[in-house]
Amino acid sequence: MGPSAEVIVVGAGAAGLWAAARAAELGLDVLVLEKTPRTGTKVLASGGGRCNLTTTLPPDEAARRFGPKAERFLRRAFRSLTPTLVRDHFHGLGVPTVEEALDKIFPASGRARDVRDALETWGRAGGVRIGTECRVRGVRAESELWHVHAADGRSWSAPQLFLCAGGKSYPRTGTTGEGYDWLAELGLEIAPLAPALVPVRSPDEDVGRLAGISLPNPHVRLQDSRGRRVGSSQRPILFTHVGLSGPGAMDLSEAIARAEASGGESHRFLLDLVPDLGRDELRQVLIDLGSRAGAPKLIRVLAPTLERELPRRLVALVLERSGLAAGARANELARASRHAVVEGLKGFGVEATGTLGYDQAEVTAGGLALHQVDPGSMRVRGYPGLFCFGELLDYAGPIGGLNFQAAFSCAELAAHSAARGT
Ligand SMILES: Cc1cc2nc3c(=O)[nH]c(=O)nc-3n(C[C@H](O)[C@H](O)[C@H](O)COP(=O)(O)OP(=O)(O)OC[C@H]3O[C@@H](n4cnc5c(N)ncnc54)[C@H](O)[C@@H]3O)c2cc1C
Repeated sequence: MGPSAEVIVVGAGAAGLWAAARAAELGLDVLVLEKTPRTGTKVLASGGGRCNLTTTLPPDEAARRFGPKAERFLRRAFRSLTPTLVRDHFHGLGVPTVEEALDKIFPASGRARDVRDALETWGRAGGVRIGTECRVRGVRAESELWHVHAADGRSWSAPQLFLCAGGKSYPRTGTTGEGYDWLAELGLEIAPLAPALVPVRSPDEDVGRLAGISLPNPHVRLQDSRGRRVGSSQRPILFTHVGLSGPGAMDLSEAIARAEASGGESHRFLLDLVPDLGRDELRQVLIDLGSRAGAPKLIRVLAPTLERELPRRLVALVLERSGLAAGARANELARASRHAVVEGLKGFGVEATGTLGYDQAEVTAGGLALHQVDPGSMRVRGYPGLFCFGELLDYAGPIGGLNFQAAFSCAELAAHSAARGT
C-alpha cells in the first residue's frame, strides 16, 4: 500500500492547523490527525475565549521575550513570518483584529472560534484532510516513510511528518504530553518539563485576605531563597485565595514550578505597589499626612492619597505588617514605622512555594531540545522527513500572544521546507 499523504500532521492545534493549511496551499497532499473531536481545542480556550493571537511587538523584540536560548532559535522564524504578517493573514482570512493593552492582538469579534474556524477553512480549501477523534499512540520510521499508529489500531504513512501535538498544560483540552514520549522513544533529548504561565500558591495566610484585588501596573521582582534576583516584570497582578495570578506573576512562575518539582526552596515576590513614587516622595507623603488637621486615621487618608487609589484592604495589610494598629493616626507615625510603611509599599513580600500545576498552566516549559532542530526549517536533525514545532519544543514565551506567534512562525517555516523538499 502506498503512503497515505505527502505530509501527516499530528495535532490540529495552532501550529498544526497553520502548517497543514500552508503546506496544502504550496501543493502538498496533507492529512491531519487530531485526538479530540474538534480542531483547535486550545485555541478555543485561549485568551479567555477571545484568543490573543499575536502581538504588536516587532519580530526581534517578540523573540527576545522568550529568553536568550529560545531567542536565538526563534529569531529567524519571527523575521520570516512576523507578527504583522500574521495579523495581515488573518485579515485576509476574514478575521479583522484589534490591539489591546500589553501589546496584545485579538480578533475584532472577540471570538476565539473565528480564529480556529479561519485556520480550518483555510486548510480545507486547500484540500487538507482532517481526522478527528484519532489518538496517535506512536510514530516510527521505516523504508523512507514515517508510520503513524493510532490507539484504535489504524495506521498511516507519509514521507514527511509534522509532530505538533502540544505540551502537557491544560490536559482537559487534549494535550497530555504524549508527543514528548514519542520523541524520547526516537532517541531525542527532552529538556526537563515544567508548567509555566501558571498562577502561584503562597503560604502567607494574610495574602488570601486580598483575594480579588488587582493591580494594573506594579513592579514585580522574584527572588530565590538566597535573595538572588530570578526575574522581574511590570505587568498586572491579581491576588487570589491561594496566592497570585495575572501576567505579572504568571510570567515568572516557571522558576517556582521547577523549585517545587525538585522539592526545593521557596521564592519570594516583592511587589512595588507604588512604582511611580520614589522612597523619598513616599516618606514626604507620610510626613504631610501627619500634619493634616484633625489627626485623621492613617488608613483613611493614605489609601486615597497614593497613586491610582490603592485598595484600602491592601494598604491596611501594609500597615499591619509594619506593626501599626488598625486605628493608628497619621500624626503618630514614628520614624521607624514610617520606614516600615515605605518599605512595605515599595516591596510588599509574597512568599511563593508552588504553582497550580499543569492543570492551570497556559504552557509547558522544556521539551525537545532546540539544538536538535534546524531553526530555518523545523526539521529534526538526523531524522529525515521529521519536523517538530509548537509547544513540543523547548521554549515558553510570556503572556501576550507570543506563544501563538511562535507556533505560527515555526509552522510557516516547516510548511515551506516540506514543500521545497529541503
Ligand atoms: C487556557 C489557555 C489560554 C491560552 N491563551 C493564549 C493566548 O491568548 N495567546 C497565546 O499566544 N497563547 C495562549 N495559550 C498558549 C497556546 O494555547 C499554546 O502556546 C498553543 O496552543 C501551542 O500550539 P500547539 O499547536 O503547539 O499546541 P496545541 O494548540 O495544544 O495543539 C496540539 C494538538 O495536538 C493534539 N494532540 C495531542 N496529543 C495527541 C495525540 N496523541 N494524537 C493526536 N492529536 C494529539 C491536541 O488535542 C491538540 O489539539 C493559552 C493556553 C491555555 C491553556
